[in-house]
Amino acid sequence: MDNLIDSLKERLKEKGYKLTPQRRATLDTIIENQGKHLNTEEIYDLVKEKCPEIGLATVYRTLQLLDEMSVLSKLNLDDGCIRYELNTHEDDHQHHHLICQSCNDVIEVELDLLEHLEEEIEKKYHFIIRDHTVKFFGICSKCQ
Ligand SMILES: [Zn+2]
Ligand SMILES: [Zn+2]
Ligand SMILES: [Zn+2]
Repeated sequence: MDNLIDSLKERLKEKGYKLTPQRRATLDTIIENQGKHLNTEEIYDLVKEKCPEIGLATVYRTLQLLDEMSVLSKLNLDDGCIRYELNTHEDDHQHHHLICQSCNDVIEVELDLLEHLEEEIEKKYHFIIRDHTVKFFGICSKCQ
């Protein structure tokens, strides 16, 4: 994760931003909670534990900034809130999400599995696929 922090610092500097303690605390919180798909309020509550003086607006703006810089990806699970997750492999396609309709748990599918479909689409529609968002809704193993 040190590499990520270093490259982010560089990129922020290029854009005239600094990795302020508040921004750093927000980023650290997301790194520590990787895989949890936290929404803005949840991130804010956790950042406050490190930085009690931080405001929701600062956290919100930091998340926007990190999203613009492709450090985070925004995730919409159709439940009315925007969640964020770390964009660990910038060049990779987004992983898929399995959403349990009983306990609302979110499970990640690490494999792309769509290569064949992507190839077909690219050939048939002369469309260059850069990424995709795939959500599966159903019942998780614990709820069955
Ligand atoms: Zn793909
Ligand atoms: Zn479940
Ligand atoms: Zn995810």
